[in-house]
Amino acid sequence: MADGAGERTYDAVIVGAGFSGLYMLHRLRGLGLTARLYEAGTGVGGTWYWNRYPGARVDIESLEYSYSFSPELDAEWTWSERYATQPELLAYLNHVADRFDLTRDIQFETRVTAAHFDEAANRWTVSTDKGEAVSARYCVMATGVLSVANEIAFEGADSFQGKTYRTGSWPKAGVDFTGQRVAVIGTGSSAIQSIPEIAAQADHVTVFQRTPNFSVPAHNGPIDPAVAQDWAANRAQYRREARETGFGIRMVDQQDQLALDADAEARRATFEARWQVGGFALLGAYGDLITDLSANATAAGFVAEKIRGIVKDPQIAEKLVPKSFPIGSKRLCVDTGYYAAFNRDNVSLVDLRETPIEAITPTGVRTSDATYEVDAIVYAIGFDAMTGALGKIDIRGRGGAALKAQWAAGPETYLGLMVAGFPNLFIVTGPGSPSVLCNMAVAIEQHVEWISDCIAWMGARQMGAIEATETAQAAWVAHVNEVAETTVFPLANSWYMGANVPGKPRVFMPYIGGFPAYRDKCNEVAANGYEGFAVSSDAQRG
Ligand code: NAP
Repeated sequence: MADGAGERTYDAVIVGAGFSGLYMLHRLRGLGLTARLYEAGTGVGGTWYWNRYPGARVDIESLEYSYSFSPELDAEWTWSERYATQPELLAYLNHVADRFDLTRDIQFETRVTAAHFDEAANRWTVSTDKGEAVSARYCVMATGVLSVANEIAFEGADSFQGKTYRTGSWPKAGVDFTGQRVAVIGTGSSAIQSIPEIAAQADHVTVFQRTPNFSVPAHNGPIDPAVAQDWAANRAQYRREARETGFGIRMVDQQDQLALDADAEARRATFEARWQVGGFALLGAYGDLITDLSANATAAGFVAEKIRGIVKDPQIAEKLVPKSFPIGSKRLCVDTGYYAAFNRDNVSLVDLRETPIEAITPTGVRTSDATYEVDAIVYAIGFDAMTGALGKIDIRGRGGAALKAQWAAGPETYLGLMVAGFPNLFIVTGPGSPSVLCNMAVAIEQHVEWISDCIAWMGARQMGAIEATETAQAAWVAHVNEVAETTVFPLANSWYMGANVPGKPRVFMPYIGGFPAYRDKCNEVAANGYEGFAVSSDAQRG
């Protein structure tokens, strides 16, 4: 039921073949719609296609960080470890693409460069870097939240004669660092996962740290057969339970009790038990850790104590202890042997707060007090998060208005799903939705299902355009900010705040009100005939 004529006309264009785009394509097919999916990579996988750095693995247990929409898919796939590696995640997403026969509608190695809304037709014209343009009623941006790398802005970076790598676009063939001196710049999740692996191979690793991060152990390993069995027997219930938790992660085992109500000894024992579980469980210990600074300090102090216990050199340990932001206000890192790597003879730490990088030279990294000669530089400097990928596309809505200009002071959306002035344009896990503050698999499924239900509703009524109203959008943006202010999140210079990209406006982008509250709001809006949205037929257009 493609509307319009000609083979370059689709009901929908989807941009990106990661977790979001694949499921979106499957759902739209289920509605009997025609869709074209454009993907820049040579294969599916999104995040798990690009981020092939050593040690890359998911930080939410794989039993939960996976699709739940198909019980058959769920039952037939077996995860080998608690936290799957990038290759296993990529294999999973390839399996999904094969199982649901998705690739025939995916055009690889094609970047979408522009999407312009044609008000007369209520359709999007989507252009690509291959010089083609197609027309679609709907455009779904499944472009990912962490998919555009931060720019390398160091003076002299191009002059470096050794090898340069970026964690977010790692060579497919892998890298052998044997015998090499390697510089790793950055100490976020990507660096924290890769440093122990690179150190095990390289001659020497110099870590350039601007801000230390909190990291907790993954305690990764094969999935305990008893856990796997229990999960298999109760899968549907556990998936439901995950969707009722604030972060969409059942295994966090979020407790309501307050850290400040517990005595110091009990609190320590609780943190210790959760440290032994590993992963985000630590943050689920108490209900006030992300809302009360004093409560937060108890967890931060516990992790600081752990760092000082693991790292043998007290001066290095002290440099590794975060002191400038509350724990959890930047994404907690989940590692395998990160702090212990600093006990190795071949790993050294450079504190960029004391001695900033002045330039990259042809042979290494020059700081204010030394030059470090290296054979390779690994940039783990992060992403232009949440808005970066949309900013790379020339998106124009009503009256030719550019999304980028409209978002110059920070992104504004209604529910993170749509933007006033940009009819029929959907964003999966956009700014203003729980997104990265939720298990992405859970957040993505809810968004994709909401979007496909909306498109089905429009089709059933033969409506031509749906668009967020300015009023609903303004109220939602205010609510997103209001909720953020009740937490410790805005206190960090994080990528959630846009603070990691020079010149980016400081706005807390994801929605921290919890997944259930958010989903209920989305459902209520839909049940009320898409309240807060303006819906028009083609006859009423303009
Ligand atoms: P990130 O958390 O933004 O870390 C980037 C690092 O680079 C920070 O330490 C940052 O320092 C540093 N940096 C940036 N620009 C710099 C400069 N000009 N000079 C010196 N240092 C600089 O990026 P990421 O590690 O790629 O992680 C991003 C997000 O991706 C994570 O928070 C997580 O959500 C996701 N991720 C998840 C996993 C997983 O699931 N296991 C793994 C990797 C990434 P400052 O802190 O001072 O800015």
